[in-house]
Amino acid sequence: MKKSFRKRGDYMGKLFGTDGVRGIVNEELSPELALRLGMAIGTFFGKGSRILVGRDIRAGGEMLKSAVVAGLMACGVKVYDAGLTPTPALQYVVKADGFDGGVMITASHNPPEYNGIKVIDADGIELQRDKEEVVEELYFTTRFKRVSWRSLVYSLEKYPYVNEKYVKAVLSHVDKELIRNRGFRVLIDPANSVGSITSPWVARELGVKAYTINGDLDPTFSGRPPEPTVETLRDTVKTVKALSVDFAIAHDGDADRAIIVDDKGRVQWGDRTAAILAKYLALKHKDLPRRVFTAVSSSTLIEDVLKPIGVEVVWLKVGSIGISRELVKHGGICGFEENGGFMYPLHHPVRDGAMTLALLLQLLAEEKRRLSELYDELPQYYTIKTKIPMSRDIAWKVVDRVKEAYKNYRQITIDGVKVITDDFWLLVRPSGTEPLLRIMIEAKARDKAEELLKDIKGLAEEVLGK
Ligand code: MG
Repeated sequence: MKKSFRKRGDYMGKLFGTDGVRGIVNEELSPELALRLGMAIGTFFGKGSRILVGRDIRAGGEMLKSAVVAGLMACGVKVYDAGLTPTPALQYVVKADGFDGGVMITASHNPPEYNGIKVIDADGIELQRDKEEVVEELYFTTRFKRVSWRSLVYSLEKYPYVNEKYVKAVLSHVDKELIRNRGFRVLIDPANSVGSITSPWVARELGVKAYTINGDLDPTFSGRPPEPTVETLRDTVKTVKALSVDFAIAHDGDADRAIIVDDKGRVQWGDRTAAILAKYLALKHKDLPRRVFTAVSSSTLIEDVLKPIGVEVVWLKVGSIGISRELVKHGGICGFEENGGFMYPLHHPVRDGAMTLALLLQLLAEEKRRLSELYDELPQYYTIKTKIPMSRDIAWKVVDRVKEAYKNYRQITIDGVKVITDDFWLLVRPSGTEPLLRIMIEAKARDKAEELLKDIKGLAEEVLGK
């Protein structure tokens, strides 16, 4: 069945990207698509299964959710509505309350005009790829299992307290009294979306004086775009300096990412924060397996920090689902992505913005030092991130060329090629979603990084010129 389906003329490629189905809402991502996908998801989980649905603040969220709910119901699924909630809150409650699965309406960090649909499995982690393929196939072949009228007897049930249960769970992993006694002052930037419901709540419960910026729920994202970056966090940085807070935490649209601005007003990328947290957790939880999981796109500074204390870094392909699944399978201290997604398995092995906030507060309460001092102790690298437009086939040829040119160095080849030395590392990989070659370089000296970029560009031109 799979093969004939692959050859179908109407096959539009992979429906699911690296993290759910995404598109411009009401254009590529229409209510018709959402309805059909709802039926595919309903057929996958089956009649009588219990599914929790939720959404972030994005425009069209209620429309898409209604369409997905209709599709699920057509297949006899009992649907529960979590309302507005962060992705990690929905994921936590799916698992904690024994749902068969969940559906989250969000496009995460994508621009405001986007929305998306992601499917959560019973363990609270996004569906793994082989299950997604089953849903995709159902979607394209329309082999839906509709139920008869006698089975269409369920109403959509409100499922309250999802955010409350989540906040309580996050708080259970830290020492409330210890943190309260420190009197922290923190700026929270939830990008005008659902992080504004839960992160200030977590902070308040921990006795933190919490200020917010972009704190109201606004589907137009008038404060800043949903992705926290150096460019989008300019106002946040200014406010950190004006208020002299201990740090700021900035989320994406569904609050699974956390990017930190330190007390000196410097935006710290996710792998730097993860290095600090991973070392702290490794020393605190000696019983956890001595492993940390991350994607090849993260800085090798994590090895610089963890190797001396006997913790192995397991390098994986880019994509958070694989990191979560490997973390569960093998056990470890944590998992992370360089974009600010941090996974703490003692809570729930998925990216979680509010959990990251609580852990950082715990760490600072114990260390009794400024966060900027902890970042200053990390190795400093000069970073270049760039991309060159080219087809996937050509991009792979460039990867082979780089492998050959750097054959005398340590290489990781699970996703493009990552070359690691004592003075620099570089990653050259075809994009998973666009016709691009992605290049990341970090070197201890700026000249070296620029020289490496020139070299990689030269190798790409050689391939393109052939
Ligand atoms: Mg996200």
